[in-house]
Amino acid sequence: MAHPPSPAALERWLTGPRFAALPARDGSDKAPALSFEFFPPSTEALEQQLWHCIRRLEPLAPRFVSVTYGAGGSTQARTHATVSRIVRETTLVPAAHLTCVNTTREEIDAVALGYWQAGVRHIVALRGDVPGGGAYVPTPGGYAYAADLVTGLKRIADFEISVAAYPEIHPAALSPEADLDNLKRKLDAGASRAITNYFFDADVYLRFLDRCLAAGITAPVVPGIMPVSNFAQAVKFSAMCGISVPGWLGHLFEGLEQDHDTRRMVAAVVAAEQVRVLQACGIDEFHFYTLNRPDLVYAIAHILGVRAAA
Ligand SMILES: Cc1cc2nc3c(=O)[nH]c(=O)nc-3n(C[C@H](O)[C@H](O)[C@H](O)COP(=O)(O)OP(=O)(O)OC[C@H]3O[C@@H](n4cnc5c(N)ncnc54)[C@H](O)[C@@H]3O)c2cc1C
Repeated sequence: MAHPPSPAALERWLTGPRFAALPARDGSDKAPALSFEFFPPSTEALEQQLWHCIRRLEPLAPRFVSVTYGAGGSTQARTHATVSRIVRETTLVPAAHLTCVNTTREEIDAVALGYWQAGVRHIVALRGDVPGGGAYVPTPGGYAYAADLVTGLKRIADFEISVAAYPEIHPAALSPEADLDNLKRKLDAGASRAITNYFFDADVYLRFLDRCLAAGITAPVVPGIMPVSNFAQAVKFSAMCGISVPGWLGHLFEGLEQDHDTRRMVAAVVAAEQVRVLQACGIDEFHFYTLNRPDLVYAIAHILGVRAAA
């Protein structure tokens, strides 16, 4: 079948959509507040990688840095050791992740009290997942859900508490409304901020903010940003957590499977564009999943206007 002739180049260019530029920044705007997430290392080499990452990002003076808790509490000692070392050896404010899975209230309360005594004032309170997958069943004598953990932690001490939020809905939620009710319960129980799971389309997050506000949530729901350079791995992981991977992202990484350097440059551009769009929409707090690698995060923070303290 014959195709109609396409319009001449100049006509196409002149009749194409027009976008306003992202607002120019003259450097006088307030730089956004950042937080960085690390995972506790399991080997000596990973320990060195983590501490290189911490030292590189420390001058950016994040609001806090958080250290994850392995599935089922499997990294309890390593999380504690990392958080304690951050308290002792850096100027950073650490937040320790804590989960409810496979733990009694007494055990988790003791861990939390230990943190308070070590000078840790911020906890990221989570339910956690069953190690190896499978349906979640609350531990007898434990905190059943993150909201219960928040209530328990507030009884122990006046921790600052962050909780998790899911722009694309938690995979086990009964409905989007039930998931939002749950988020509200966690904030009403004493959490002061939510941090979102990562997402790729800014729209997904912005629509979620609308729904949060409509549900009466007023605490900050900070976007979790994951700069992705290993696309194949991101696809696998995203499928497990119910995160949609847009076609345009796949297209950007197409043909770069063996080209690590270009993948990293593409990753920086994608994440920088994402945070700049959100910044243009007024968002001024960002949480970065660093995966213990500082370079992309450092570059993106720089683009956002964050500079190392002199
Ligand atoms: C920023 C962030 C950091 C994370 N850090 C870690 C970490 O360090 N370690 C780790 O193991 N995991 C971590 N996770 C993953 C998290 O543990 C999982 O997503 C887990 O499945 C849910 O945890 P939650 O705290 O959101 O749970 P909850 O808020 O308890 O919600 C879990 C599910 O249960 C539902 N629900 C809540 N209350 C009830 C109720 N009373 N009855 C029935 N259903 C209910 C909710 O709608 C939701 O579907 C993190 C996630 C995020 C976004």
